[in-house]
Amino acid sequence: MKVFKFGGASVSTAERIRNVKEILASYSGQPLLVVISAMGKTTNALETVVETFYRNEKEEALRLFEAIKQSHLDICTQLTPVPLPQLADLFTEVEWLLHDKPVRNYDYYYDQVVCIGELLSTAIISHYLQTEGISNQWLDVRDIIRTDNNFRDARIDWVYTNEKVQTTVLPLFRQTQVLITQGFIGATDENESTTLGREGSDYTAAVFTHLLDAGSQTIWKDVQGVMNADPKLYPDAEWIRELTYREVIEMAYYGAQVIHPKTIKPLQNKDIPLYVKSFLHPQEEGTVIHNRNIAGLPPIIVYKQAQVLVELTSRDYSFVSEGLNSEIDILFQRLKFKPNLTQITAISILCLTDNLEEKLDQFAQAAGGLFDVHLEKGLSLLTIRHYNEDILAKLTAGKQIVLRQQTRETVQVVMREQ
Ligand code: ASP
Ligand code: MG
Repeated sequence: MKVFKFGGASVSTAERIRNVKEILASYSGQPLLVVISAMGKTTNALETVVETFYRNEKEEALRLFEAIKQSHLDICTQLTPVPLPQLADLFTEVEWLLHDKPVRNYDYYYDQVVCIGELLSTAIISHYLQTEGISNQWLDVRDIIRTDNNFRDARIDWVYTNEKVQTTVLPLFRQTQVLITQGFIGATDENESTTLGREGSDYTAAVFTHLLDAGSQTIWKDVQGVMNADPKLYPDAEWIRELTYREVIEMAYYGAQVIHPKTIKPLQNKDIPLYVKSFLHPQEEGTVIHNRNIAGLPPIIVYKQAQVLVELTSRDYSFVSEGLNSEIDILFQRLKFKPNLTQITAISILCLTDNLEEKLDQFAQAAGGLFDVHLEKGLSLLTIRHYNEDILAKLTAGKQIVLRQQTRETVQVVMREQ
């Protein structure tokens, strides 16, 4: 058995969905569990619907939702003339909610609305595959993946989910070769929808791969595989044939947007290989991620723009090591905010963060009780794994360096953006 994950870009248009069908057809004869994201930028559009609803702008929220509805109906009719009544039910679910007044917290509504993106895309694709002769079964993943109620970043109940996978999902393969389900979403024991964090579909696929003991997992992307840098920023980015689980975890940690960081552990634990392949060129080799000794990795470059250096200086000269840094850790956790780099000195803590206006305000306010807070904006963070001085010199040429940290394998520099 194989587990496939198709991301938003691979199903953004009717043409791309036809391409997914071709890929699935080329694997016919083997059991496949297929996890699919919301189409294109649907998740972002749904986020705007929730924000609008939560500002009490009901009419506008409904209008924005109407546009999402229409684009899904359009894609569905482009794919097949056979109508799909299930769509109306899914739309109604959201519309009912939007007619209410928000009384619960924002994250709760976020999950109830945003989850519809994956439900719509998978319903349409499953239906289309059926009409094209690829017999398959659609599965509401909310009946399988049980989570806690930490909305927007829900944690999986592995015991319950495993039980469901063994008793419900596995037997389905006696009736069908292809199961189509959603990434990114789950449900609580009270049947409230939850989400697992942005880009969480890779993780969903890994949960299934692990629990089904699949032979491999494949993530289909619009690039040839994992690259050593973002090709949009570095035109001479290279494709990497083979990586270790460890390397991918490190890359994700430093901010490379390759694979959702939670994806690796379930695969590593059972030593199941992860392939990253191009849905545009499915014949090409792609990248394999597994547990081998790999000699000679190229320098791997991660570049984060729009960074802010937050300098916290202890007011009364309390030593930072006397627990003040753990106060800061707790504060970051409470705000669901995370520094990309930190440095501690005798009486100050430097934290480099993304430029998220609202979080920074809340952070500065809360930390202001203990520290003088100083912010410097307009910075970027360059991380190079397996670096050498040549590449470091090349990528920092002409830049003003504000801070530098390095280990044997990794160098990080904070630079002023010009
Ligand atoms: N649709 C969700 C997102 O855009 C989940 C995913 O694509 O993995 O974040
Ligand atoms: Mg995605």
